Amino acid sequence: MKIDLSDKTALVTGSTVGIGYAIALGLARTGATVVVNGRKQEAVDKAVKAIEDAVPGARVTGVPADLGTGEGAAALVAAVPAPDILVNNVGIFGPKDFFEVPDEEWARFFEVNVMSGVRLSRAYALGMAERGWGRILFIASESALNIPVEMIHYGFTKTAQLAVSRGLAKRLAGTGVTVNAILPGPTLSEGVADMLKDEIARTGQSLEEAGAAFVKAHRPSSIIQRAASVEEVANMAVYVCSKEASATTGSALRVDGGLVDTIA
Ligand code: NAD
Repeated sequence: MKIDLSDKTALVTGSTVGIGYAIALGLARTGATVVVNGRKQEAVDKAVKAIEDAVPGARVTGVPADLGTGEGAAALVAAVPAPDILVNNVGIFGPKDFFEVPDEEWARFFEVNVMSGVRLSRAYALGMAERGWGRILFIASESALNIPVEMIHYGFTKTAQLAVSRGLAKRLAGTGVTVNAILPGPTLSEGVADMLKDEIARTGQSLEEAGAAFVKAHRPSSIIQRAASVEEVANMAVYVCSKEASATTGSALRVDGGLVDTIA
């Protein structure tokens, strides 16, 4: 299979680093015109340049916008009015005990992790349907199914993404627009590197070793017994965004190393 998206434009939210960056890079490799997004101009410029350096002839631009607010989402929509592919990747996470999480933090997690994707999907999906082709992808998490006891407020947002994704897929029935969610397991992104930095400093482990130790301690049902790379998640995302994935919609696709202990 040769994935060719050279006639499509893809917007990947929260894509200056981490899983989002790997997806933007993967889509650029398929020939797609890619728009990256983050909060700061400098980080956006750096990601655009990195993709241009990695993919000769890449068509890539960037838009800084804070997707934790309605204004930020509106600014992004004004700058990128009609993408064919929307990857709702932006997301924040971090362990905090349920009894320590105030209302404002519940609201912030909901705004960034859920409402960003709701607002952008609402802005773009009908245009995709009119054009008869589109891909909307939510980067959820295995935490949507396996609510982590150390970050219940995060798990809640990821479950909500699955509800929106499945519902929107049905709402867009017969239009040529697919809507899916990917559920990564622990993945070695910049965000996770930051989460593990104290452990790395304490033990002298590499990021990969610290990731594997985290998986064994906190996600022992993992079949691969290690964290995934961002590319392993991006590979699934690029496929789901491809023309070849036209019969996959309304799905929640796991790239979790088998850690959700279920047959289907
Ligand atoms: P990361 O922290 O490495 O990168 C996050 C990206 O989002 C960065 O580009 C950052 O600039 C951007 N960002 C953050 N807040 C933003 C905002 N308000 N507006 C615009 N951009 C913003 O994250 P990651 O680990 O690559 O995670 C990406 C997605 O994958 C998230 O939705 C996360 O929940 C999900 N996920 C990650 C893992 C993991 O282990 N890394 C596992 C499962 C799911």
